[in-house]
Amino acid sequence: SKVPPIILNNGVEMPQLGFGVWQVPDDEAEQAVGTALEAGYRSIDTAAIYGNEEGTGRAIAASGLPREDIFVTTKLWNSDQGYDSTLRAFDASLEKLGLDHLDLYLIHWPLPSRGTYIDTYKALEKLHADGRVRAIGVSNFLPEHLRRLVSETSVVPAVNQIELHPHLQQHASRELHAEQGIATEAWSPLGQGKGLLEVPAIVAIAQKHDRTPAQVVLRWHVQLGNVVIPKSVTPSRIKENIEVFDFSLDDEDLAAISALNEDRRLGPDPATFDMS
Ligand code: NAD
Repeated sequence: SKVPPIILNNGVEMPQLGFGVWQVPDDEAEQAVGTALEAGYRSIDTAAIYGNEEGTGRAIAASGLPREDIFVTTKLWNSDQGYDSTLRAFDASLEKLGLDHLDLYLIHWPLPSRGTYIDTYKALEKLHADGRVRAIGVSNFLPEHLRRLVSETSVVPAVNQIELHPHLQQHASRELHAEQGIATEAWSPLGQGKGLLEVPAIVAIAQKHDRTPAQVVLRWHVQLGNVVIPKSVTPSRIKENIEVFDFSLDDEDLAAISALNEDRRLGPDPATFDMS
């Protein structure tokens, strides 16, 4: 494969770069995921709330690829938190995806004011123990949520998927993840493609390496050790975004990008986000 794996804390291999499908309507997901699989992506990141697990599943089936060659992640939505409701939501997601097991299941948001993420995670541990999912983890957990989770449950999460890009570098989370053996997975790795890809420092590095700004930002993540899941529905960009394993940024490039941190979120604050 074009994409090297990282080894999760339970020995499972996860491709370091995958394809995200947030905001891709179900009827476009089949084509977009199909294009990604053809381009060499072997990891797909969806979620129950994205409403495209069925289209994603159709693309996986249509690809003809062996099941074990594709790493599939989905996420438990907020309204399904709680032990029994999590078990039911997992079954519903698998059914929509048309799969008999999942590679990675994540709690989408911590919802700290509800106090349900411990029980929810215990249901993930049960699914993992039953062999229905190869790895379990969380998303949008702040250090305080992770510390509580690790102290009150048995399986250290394999992954924490958090908003992370050059304008929000998440030093405290990355440090804690490294300490605990938790892989850092970056969502909105391209900063949603907005101003970030026009920042002069990034454009200059792209020109220097004869690459695109998106490739430079993705390569920065890869060299930091992050898992990345860029999203696009444009075939040329889908192909461009995976071509980041045949060049390297030097120390000067890395330092210039690291200097862009502004601790600025594009998405909600996990401490207060409570949408059902
Ligand atoms: P992203 O940073 O991947 O940016 C995607 C946007 O950038 C595209 O819509 C397009 O406008 C632009 N783009 C993509 N490739 C480009 C290229 N080569 N050149 C120029 N522009 C390009 O943002 P995202 O979609 O928010 O995040 C990626 C994935 O992360 C999502 O699809 C989803 O799977 C996941 N995610 C998870 C959460 C969570 O709460 N866990 C939240 C948001 C996103």
